[in-house]
Amino acid sequence: MLDRTIGAETVESLWRGAEEMREPLVAFTRKLIQTPSLPGHEGDVAAHVAAEMQSLSFDGVEVDEAGNVIGHISATTSPGEERPRRSIMLNAHMDHVDVGDPSRWPFPPYEATVHDGQIWGRGASDLKGSLACQIYAGALLKRSGLPLPNDLYVTGVVQEEVGGLGSSNLARHLKADYAVIGEPSGNVLALGHRGRTEMMVIVSGKSVHASVPDTGVNPLYSVARFLESLEGLHFDPDPEHPYLGPTTVAPTLISTDQTSPNVVPAECKLVLDIRNTPKDTPDLLLDTVRELLLASVGPGASAEARINAITLTSYTGVNGEFSNAAPPFGIAPDSRLALNAQAVLSEALRRPMATKLWPFCTDAGHLVAAGITCIGFGPGHEDVIHTVNERISIDMMVEAVVANAALALGLE
Ligand SMILES: [Zn+2]
Repeated sequence: MLDRTIGAETVESLWRGAEEMREPLVAFTRKLIQTPSLPGHEGDVAAHVAAEMQSLSFDGVEVDEAGNVIGHISATTSPGEERPRRSIMLNAHMDHVDVGDPSRWPFPPYEATVHDGQIWGRGASDLKGSLACQIYAGALLKRSGLPLPNDLYVTGVVQEEVGGLGSSNLARHLKADYAVIGEPSGNVLALGHRGRTEMMVIVSGKSVHASVPDTGVNPLYSVARFLESLEGLHFDPDPEHPYLGPTTVAPTLISTDQTSPNVVPAECKLVLDIRNTPKDTPDLLLDTVRELLLASVGPGASAEARINAITLTSYTGVNGEFSNAAPPFGIAPDSRLALNAQAVLSEALRRPMATKLWPFCTDAGHLVAAGITCIGFGPGHEDVIHTVNERISIDMMVEAVVANAALALGLE
């Protein structure tokens, strides 16, 4: 670990300030949860985010073309005084997944009930609680009067849950040195995740009456050979990111073009969920799968593999095309930045700081693709997100306010 830290007095002052903010922090988080914001409909919640930043005396607040909210707090020490000035982005999304059947929830999903020291509701852990903590970390720094060596940008982004239109637009005009992704990590330092590439495989044959199968070409036999060869497929870990583990492939959905049990299908569709390391790019994965298909299709059958794309439109009307391939990210546990972040967090939270990898994808891949180095830290619980039991601990939120403020002070 690095020796250099933020100092006991600073830590004391951050904790005092964060505890004083507990009530407004909870009230604001509840307001965010009570304002539904499905992807493409974040306008109302964005207005709350911008208004809160303004009332907390951020130095600048703007909403970009895509509808992302960007709050700015300026560095207060002279550049080069002690160390280079960095720009740090705290990044959390404003959208959330659907609630499903509200009657299955222990507490109504948009009521933000406070029970047992936790706030319950859709978006509590993913990711409105974390967004509120990032905003209040900015407010804490502003209020504390502590010298701020880095420029801080607190960003609430749109459409993370459906492909990342918000962050990929943001990265085009906000070139921060580092970003802290606020996805739920249980207040542990997250250092990366594999990408997720969703591949569609289509095998075609010739449909005939099932009583005369020899006169057709049943694509299912080719699919069977393909699946068997897929099971034997292994990837080596990425030598530059060995800690991410190897790429894995899971066939998840299978369907044919038929609904009748007495017809040989003309077509079989398969979906592959591939979790990939940086070296196994979507193009290389397509090549690998196409090679296996070529070796698997029988006479008269044909096959193709592709990665589908979707077009997203933000609530402000910005369009973007996104392939079903969310990029990976990772920084080595022994890298300077990881050690720096770990030391700052250990000191600020007064406990040893563990590191972890996220099992799921985040917007980090989009930011990394634009040259922004990412780490992850968030107060949510990853085991409750996207479920009817979504909630967040208020104590962990207060801790996350301190942690985010400390990172803004201590990242070098
Ligand atoms: Zn999320």
